[in-house]
Amino acid sequence: MITVKRHPMLWVVSAPSGAGKTTLCDRLVADEDTITYSVSCTTRAPRAGEIDGKSYFFLSESAFDARVATGEFLEHAVVHGNRYGTLVRTVRDAMAAGRDVLMDIDVQGAAQIRAALAFDTALADLRAAYVDIFIAPPSLRDLQLRLWGRGQDDEAVIEKRLAGAADELGHWRDYQYVIVNDQLETSYRTLHAIWTAECRRTQRLAD
Ligand code: 5GP
Repeated sequence: MITVKRHPMLWVVSAPSGAGKTTLCDRLVADEDTITYSVSCTTRAPRAGEIDGKSYFFLSESAFDARVATGEFLEHAVVHGNRYGTLVRTVRDAMAAGRDVLMDIDVQGAAQIRAALAFDTALADLRAAYVDIFIAPPSLRDLQLRLWGRGQDDEAVIEKRLAGAADELGHWRDYQYVIVNDQLETSYRTLHAIWTAECRRTQRLAD
């Protein structure tokens, strides 16, 4: 019997908020025990139930600035008025431990990572391990209804998110894969099919 090893993957999944990204990604992470979420840093306040170091690393503006200054971020961006970023160390440590890393980041962060992988020789080893997916809602109206329905944010926050969504949707062509999340079950099957195929593709990268 041939045993085929596999190289850990670096997944980026982006979507306007309300498109169903968290539901789909949570399910993939639950089903596939090699995947781990990359825990991001943010300057936004924790929501009810969010845990520091697990949901996010909640940082002050000055602590975030300090990490920008020392070049610790793989990418960072302002999203809906708050700052978010992924530490290089978070991704490197997880992949070194053999984990596949799933980054739930916005379109600006994804663009920065693509550029970094293309031009930064220190990250060259991650190029072939990179996979990105855009999850789109069937329509902006649908997104609006979902954001209202989940009752997580107040009206002003929802309006801000909807304004950002129109812009984010313009970036779906930058991604290797796009899933229009019309029907959750079908979308999950598609996401999982991508996972299965990418696992096979990255086998050849293993030492
Ligand atoms: P939320 O505040 O609802 O948790 O996330 C808001 C948005 O920020 C989401 O679209 C999410 O993908 C994005 N986000 C979360 N972490 C990061 C990060 O580390 N970098 C970037 N660029 N975006 C992030």
